[in-house]
Amino acid sequence: PAREAEEPPGSPALPAEEPQGGQPAGAPPGEEALPAAAGRERGVRGAGPQGPGGRAARGRGRRGGGESGRAGRRPRVTVDSSKAKTSLEALKISLRQLRWREFPLGRRLPCDIYWHGVSFHDNDIFSGQVNKFPGMTEMVRKITLSRAVRTMQDLFPLEYNFYPRSWILPEEFPLFVDEVRMLKDSDPSWKPTFIVKPDGGCQGDGIYLVKDPSDIRLTGAIPSRPAVVQEYICKPLLVDKLKFDIRLYVLLKSLEPLEIYIAKDGLSRFCTEPYQEPTLKNLHQVFMHLTNYSLNIHSGNFIHSDDANTGSKRTFSSILCRLSSRGADVKKLWSDIISLVIKTIIALTPELKVYYQSDIPAGKPGPTCFQILGFDILLMKNLKPMLLEVNANPSMRIEHEQELSPGVFENVPSPVDEEVKVAVIRDTLRLVDPQKKKRKDVQGFIILIRFRPSESSMFSGMKDKQHKHHSLKLSLKLKFYLKLGSCQALEQGPEEPLPAGPAALPSLCLKQVFPKYAKQFNYLRLLDRVAVLFIRFLGVKGTTKLGPTGFRTFIRNCKLSNSNFSMASVDILYIDITRRWNSMGIDHKESGMCLQAFIEAFFCLAQKKYKSLPLHEQVASLIDFCEYHLAALDEKRLVCGRG
Ligand code: ADP
Repeated sequence: PAREAEEPPGSPALPAEEPQGGQPAGAPPGEEALPAAAGRERGVRGAGPQGPGGRAARGRGRRGGGESGRAGRRPRVTVDSSKAKTSLEALKISLRQLRWREFPLGRRLPCDIYWHGVSFHDNDIFSGQVNKFPGMTEMVRKITLSRAVRTMQDLFPLEYNFYPRSWILPEEFPLFVDEVRMLKDSDPSWKPTFIVKPDGGCQGDGIYLVKDPSDIRLTGAIPSRPAVVQEYICKPLLVDKLKFDIRLYVLLKSLEPLEIYIAKDGLSRFCTEPYQEPTLKNLHQVFMHLTNYSLNIHSGNFIHSDDANTGSKRTFSSILCRLSSRGADVKKLWSDIISLVIKTIIALTPELKVYYQSDIPAGKPGPTCFQILGFDILLMKNLKPMLLEVNANPSMRIEHEQELSPGVFENVPSPVDEEVKVAVIRDTLRLVDPQKKKRKDVQGFIILIRFRPSESSMFSGMKDKQHKHHSLKLSLKLKFYLKLGSCQALEQGPEEPLPAGPAALPSLCLKQVFPKYAKQFNYLRLLDRVAVLFIRFLGVKGTTKLGPTGFRTFIRNCKLSNSNFSMASVDILYIDITRRWNSMGIDHKESGMCLQAFIEAFFCLAQKKYKSLPLHEQVASLIDFCEYHLAALDEKRLVCGRG
C-alpha cells in the first residue's frame, strides 16, 4: 500500500541542451524546438480529442499530413491510464501533447504502454511497457536502500561516501552504540546528531533527531518499528539562512542494457525556520530541520510564489544560478550529482535484476519496464551532494494546497508543477515511444532485404536456393510485421495525423547519463555479475531465493570446493548466512538464500581464496574465476550436445 512520496510543486527549466533524438516522428532534421513554455502550456489544457483545442490541432495535423503524404500518418500509441492514480492529470496532458491514445478505463486488447501510479504488480500484463519495475518499491525502502548502498561502501568506500553513515534498527543497535562510542573516543571533538527514520515511512512521518544512542526515544522504539538511524548532516548549504533539499527526477529507461536519464531541472524544497545547528533545545523543530513540503506547508512562514527564485519551493536551476553568481563551481556540482545518481542505481540493479527475472522470466514476451524515480539530495556547505533517499513513486500531482483563509486549505492548480512534471512524463514517453522502435526495426528489415547476397555478410556462403528461402522468410516477416501494424491501426480506428507540428514539442528535458558515462562507472558494476551467477543457479523460474541444492551446484560448477573447503563446509556456510538473513525478517514469503545473503557468502569465498587483495579485487577475481569455469562448462555441454 505504497503512499505517494511527498513532493512539492515547483517550477521548471534549466537552459535547454541539445535535443536528444526525441523530436516527434516526422520532425524535420534540425527543426528548432519551441521555447518550453509556449509548447507546454498554450493549447495543451483542454486540447484533448474532444476539446476545441484538440479539433484545431487535428485540423492542423491533417493539413500537415496532406503535405507530407501517407508517410505522415501512423497508428497512434495506446496508453492504459486506468491505474495512473495521482499521476493521471499530468499523464493526460502529456498524452494530449503527444496525440497518443488514452484508455482511461483500460482496454480489452493489449496497449503499448501501461501507466501505473503505484507499482508493477497492478495487473497481469504480457506485452508492451509498464512504467514500473518489479521490486523497485521494495528496493528503495529506507532499510533496503541502506543495505544496498552499504554493500557498495564495503567494496568501494570512497566512491560511495555520498550516503550518510547508517545503521539498521533493531538488529544493528548494539553495533550503532559500539561504533559511535569508538568514533567519539577517537575524536572527542565529534559531537554528532542522529536522525531516526522509520522504514517505509515518507513525508517526514515518524522522523526524529537524537544526540545520543542512549536517548530514551530510541531505546524505547527499538522493539516496535524497524528504522534506519543515520548520521545527521549538521552543516547543510543554506540559502536565505534556510535549509533546503533537492528533488531530481531520474528515468531508469532500461535495466539491461542499463540506460539512465536525468531531468535537467529539479525542485528545491525549503524549510520555513532559519537553520541552526542541532542542539538539545532545537532538535524537535521540524520546520528548521526537515525540508518535507508536506510538513512545511503547515508553517505560517510557508511562502507560495510563482517566481522560481523565491518562496518555499524553487527550481534547482534558480539555486544554481545563485551559487554560480557567488563563484561556486556549478559544473562540478552537476557532475557530482550525476555521479551520485549513477552510483546509486548501480547499487540497486543487482537485486532489481533478480526481481525482474522472477516476474518476467526470460522467454516471456513481456512486458518491458521503465520508471521515473525521485532522488532527494541534500547539499553540504562545501557543495558536496548527499543522497537522502530515492522515491519509487515521486508525486506527479500538478496541484498544490493553498490556505485560502486561516485554516482553510484547498487544492489549486499549480502551473509550475504542471510544467516540470508534465515535461518529465511527456519526455519519458517520447523516449520509450514504441513507434520509434518499430520504425527502426522496419528500416532494419528493408535494408536487409535490399542487400544482394554478395553484399550481405549474413548471406555470404549461402547457396542461391538458401538465399531465396532466407529472403522470402524475411519479406514474409516484414509483411506480417506491417500487417500487424495495420491490424492495430484498424482496431484503433482511423490513423491519426502526427502531432500538430514538428516543432510543437520542446527539446527533451531528460539528459542521458548512462551509457553516456559508462566508461567511468562500469568498474563499479561487480555485483551485477554476481547477480547473473545467482540467477543462473536459481533453477525454477519465478523464484528470488536460492535453495541449498542450487548453492551446492554453484560451488561445484565453479570448482570452488577443495580439500580446504569441503562440501560439508559449503552447507554450513549456506545455513549460517541464510538463517541470519531470514531472521532479519525481510521477506518470509520464500525460504532460501536471497541475493544479499548470496553476496555475503560470495565475499566470504573471495576473501578465503584471494587473501591479500583489497575486497573489490578479491570479489572481481572470484567473479572472473567463476565465469571462466562456467563458460568452459557451457562449451563442453555445447560440444556434447552437438556430438
Ligand atoms: P521521508 O521519506 O520521510 O521524507 P527523508 O529521508 O527524505 O524521509 O527525510 C526527511 C527529511 O529529513 C529530508 O527531507 C531532510 O530534510 C531531512 N534529512 C533526512 N536525512 C538527513 C540527514 N542524514 N541529515 C540531515 N537531514 C536529513
